[in-house]
Amino acid sequence: QTLWEGAYFRIQFADQKQEFNKRPTKIGRRSLSRSISQSSTDSYGSAASYTDSSDDETSPRDKQQKNSKGNGDFCIKNIKQADFGRREIEIAEQEMPALMALRKRAQGEKPLAGAKVVGCTHITAQTASTCESAVLMETLTALGAQCRWAACNIYSTQNEVAAALAEGGFSVFAWKGESEDDFWWCIDRCVNLEGWQPNMILDDGGDLTHWIYKKYPNMFKKIKGIVEESVTGVHRLYQLSKAGKLCVPAMNVNDSVTKQKFDNLYCCRESILDGLKRTTDVMFGGKQVMVCGYGEVGKGCCAALKAMGSIVYVTEIDPICALQACMDGFRLVKLNEVIRQVDIVITCTGNKNVVVREYLDRMKNGCIVCNMGHSNTEIDVASLRTPELTWERVRSQVDHVIWPDGKRIVLLAEGRLLNLSCSTVPTFVLSITATTQALALIELYNAPEGRYKQDVYLLPKKMDEYVASLHLPTFDAHLTELSDEQAKYLGLNKNGPFKPNYYR
Ligand code: NAD
Repeated sequence: QTLWEGAYFRIQFADQKQEFNKRPTKIGRRSLSRSISQSSTDSYGSAASYTDSSDDETSPRDKQQKNSKGNGDFCIKNIKQADFGRREIEIAEQEMPALMALRKRAQGEKPLAGAKVVGCTHITAQTASTCESAVLMETLTALGAQCRWAACNIYSTQNEVAAALAEGGFSVFAWKGESEDDFWWCIDRCVNLEGWQPNMILDDGGDLTHWIYKKYPNMFKKIKGIVEESVTGVHRLYQLSKAGKLCVPAMNVNDSVTKQKFDNLYCCRESILDGLKRTTDVMFGGKQVMVCGYGEVGKGCCAALKAMGSIVYVTEIDPICALQACMDGFRLVKLNEVIRQVDIVITCTGNKNVVVREYLDRMKNGCIVCNMGHSNTEIDVASLRTPELTWERVRSQVDHVIWPDGKRIVLLAEGRLLNLSCSTVPTFVLSITATTQALALIELYNAPEGRYKQDVYLLPKKMDEYVASLHLPTFDAHLTELSDEQAKYLGLNKNGPFKPNYYR
């Protein structure tokens, strides 16, 4: 056990009791050596920022800005938006109880003292994809780390939030609507500074890791570990590991149980309705909805739509998930059996070509088609780009695709993730993922020599459970403690982990 683990897990239950009831809860320059990951260029539509209306077209790179303390080690759109951004961060803090609890506990011991974290995540307060936030950055600083930060997505930065961070002394290099050249420039400014040698990486998508590998490989001599958030980035790390090229330990937080269960299931349960409402104003009661895939995301979507009175059909390829759908009261069908009658089709499989042209041809007039899976290949949107079909943009993120006989389907976000493109994501869910990231950094930074090799690891089960326990006080939830006798009977440590590593 690290010092941090020992101290924190020991006080876990005592602290929980103390906290009950307290918490109410444009593209410019171009010159590229490599394309950035698709997720880095996915549009975030209208959800990401409230202050985009600035007329100032000057590139932040051409501006000299300083915060009120005279510090100019940042590059953002407009430092004058800091107050507004601060208020947004404060709102987000309300819904991020675990990070705030970590800050409180770090008042004595600083588990990240000496850590120099270079980060590349979404620079937002509330509307991120899989959950980085200003609150996380400020928490890492409270835990003792020095941070330099860039955005992992060229559209998702909330300018006012970046301004608030810069005003607070953060070295942040990000603005909404970066060009690809800007994107790499910002990353480079975070990494390449005289007198600065990062020793931890927090990445979302793998672009920062890639940049250091390519430009500054010697830096890895002093880097203790990489924490990676996204499916894409994790995939790249496993590839590096397989090729024997991973030179430091890496933590895959994407696959930690708390992330999967909460981000995929509960986040989608809430945001599917939001995304559909904002784009189409559809009434859900009595509508016939087809949900493709009954994994975590599909389960969340089905539960929300059922609760709204929709008639929900499910398609699955896996008999276990299929049986779950049946037991949950959904009709398991093949797409071709109901495609003519459904009002809404939602893909959540993580697979490709689930809804192909043949099905799109057979849908009824007005059918809404959207995707909640990671990639934009679940619906074969390319097959709709043929001369006989007319595309009509009716709203931001909403296209009518019109057949020669006048039939039209309503395609949302051109087949990209509906909730990330068209709605916001609940901050509480972001809190869970952000806490997982903070703990993964603490674990890798404090791990004794030899605990982690040059490989990709999952967050230890006990820490996963700890992330969940830090969120329980919000609900005034009272966790039962094992008696000595019960712990012995089950062969468990009273403080966890309570489930085997393979439990999901
Ligand atoms: P999962 O593996 O739990 O579920 C996917 C399900 O789809 C599986 O049960 C699989 O058997 C089924 N499936 C695969 N191909 C199919 C096909 N052709 N027809 C019908 N069913 C099929 O994964 P998940 O956690 O539910 O995630 C699904 C996708 O959503 C992934 O791409 C993931 O990255 C993405 N995701 C989106 C969000 C979001 O906010 N929108 C959040 C988390 C994950």
